[in-house]
Amino acid sequence: MAEKKVPFTKAQLEEITRKHPTPFHLYDERAIRENARRLMAAFAWAPGFKEYFAVKATPNPALLRLLREEGLGADCSSLAELYLADMAGIRGEAIMFSSNDTPAEDFQKARELGAVINLDDITHIDYLEKHAGLPDMLSFRYNPGPLLKGGNDIIGYPEEAKYGITKEQLLQAYRLAQSKGVRRFGLHTMVISNELNPDSFIATARMMFDLAVEIHQKTGIRVELINLGGGIGIPYRPEQDAVDLEHVGQGIRAAYQETIAANGLHPLTLAMECGRMITGPYGYLVTTVLHKKHIYKNYVGLDSCMANLMRPALYGAYHHITVIGKEAAPLDHVYDVTGSLCENNDKFAIDRALPAIDIGDVLVIHDAGAHGHAMGFNYNGKLRSAELLLKPSGEVELIRRAETLEDYFATLDLRSCGRLAASTANADGE
Ligand SMILES: *Cc1c(COP(=O)(O)O)cnc(C)c1O
Repeated sequence: MAEKKVPFTKAQLEEITRKHPTPFHLYDERAIRENARRLMAAFAWAPGFKEYFAVKATPNPALLRLLREEGLGADCSSLAELYLADMAGIRGEAIMFSSNDTPAEDFQKARELGAVINLDDITHIDYLEKHAGLPDMLSFRYNPGPLLKGGNDIIGYPEEAKYGITKEQLLQAYRLAQSKGVRRFGLHTMVISNELNPDSFIATARMMFDLAVEIHQKTGIRVELINLGGGIGIPYRPEQDAVDLEHVGQGIRAAYQETIAANGLHPLTLAMECGRMITGPYGYLVTTVLHKKHIYKNYVGLDSCMANLMRPALYGAYHHITVIGKEAAPLDHVYDVTGSLCENNDKFAIDRALPAIDIGDVLVIHDAGAHGHAMGFNYNGKLRSAELLLKPSGEVELIRRAETLEDYFATLDLRSCGRLAASTANADGE
C-alpha cells in the first residue's frame, strides 16, 4: 500500500499560497534526495553504478543540481536537455545522450559537453562522424524486437517500437565503429515503462548481460557500460506497492555474477536512466477549486487544467487527490474533477469518491513530479504554472516562475498587425 500523504500541513500550505498563487507544482527536496539515495544504495555493490536521471521527466536545473549532489547524472535526448544538464553542472560522461531521429546540432552539443553518445541506429555512425566527429566512446541502443516476449502498456511491443537496432545490426555497428577508431563501447536498452514488477528489471538485465557476452564472443569487444534504461514505475494508486529496489539490485547482482563475472567481463559499469521513480511521487500539483457545477453529473472545476498535468487525459491515468483540510472526512461525494480546456477529456478524475468539496478548497494532485509540468503546453491560451521547491528547512524556493501573457505573446511578430492596421487606416483615408 502506498500511503498518499502530503509533505506539508494545511497552515504551511496556506502560507505558501499567500505568496505563490495556485496552481503550481511543488517538489519535496528531502524526499527526492532520500529516494535517489535508496536507488544508489540498491546498486552499491555494482562498481561505478550510475543513474542518469531522465531529464525529460522534470527538466528543471534546480532539481538536476540537487540530484547531481546525490551522485546522479543526466539522460538527455535533445539540445535543450543538454543545455539544462550543463546549467546544473552535469557534464562529460555524467551525461548520456540517448536520442532518436537526431539533428546534427544536438550531436555537436553532446560532443562539446563530452557526453556518452548512445546511437539509435547504425547509420548514425556515419552521420555523427560527418557532423560532429566520432568520439572515443560510443554506445548503441538495442531493440530486442520479438526476442522479448510480451509488451508494456506505455512502451508497447519492442518490434513495433521505432527505437534501437537489431542484434545483427548491433554486432555490425560495434565492428564498424571500431574500424573507425572508436575504442570504448557502451550497450543500452529501454524496453520497459512505468513497470511495478521488480522481476521485469532483472529479466532485462539478464538479457543485456547475455548480449554483452555474445558481443564479446563474436567481436572481441568488451563493452564497458551497460545501461538498462529507466522504466521503474510508481504506485499511482493507493493500493499499489512501490518497486522493491533492494530486490531489483540483488536480483541484478546475482545475474551479474552468473553471466558477466563468470565470463570474465567483470568489472563493467552498470547504469540506469530512471526519471519517473526519482521525482514522480514527490511532486504535487496544488490547485484551487474555482467552480462547482451540477448537470447530469457533479463537476468540480479547478484553476489548473491538462496543460499542467496531461497524464489523466492522455493515458486515463489515475492520480490521487487530497482535499486539504478534509483528509479525514468521509469520501461520500462523487465528482468529475475538471480543468478549463475546451476539451472534454480535460479531467483530472472521473467519478472519483471525494469528501464534499467547496469553492475555494485547495486540492493536491499527487504523483505529478514527473511528466507533469514537463508535458505542459499552451493550447487554448493556457499558461504554464510555477514550480516550487520545498526545502528540508521548510522554506519554499521558486525554481520556475509562472508564464505570463507576455511570455505567451513573445514569439508573435506583431509588426504585421501594425502594418495591417496602418494599411487599413490608409485605405480609410482615401
Ligand atoms: C523516458 C526515457 C527514460 C526514463 O523513463 P522513466 O519511465 O521516466 O524511468 C529513460 N530512457 C529513455 C531512452 C527514455 O526515453
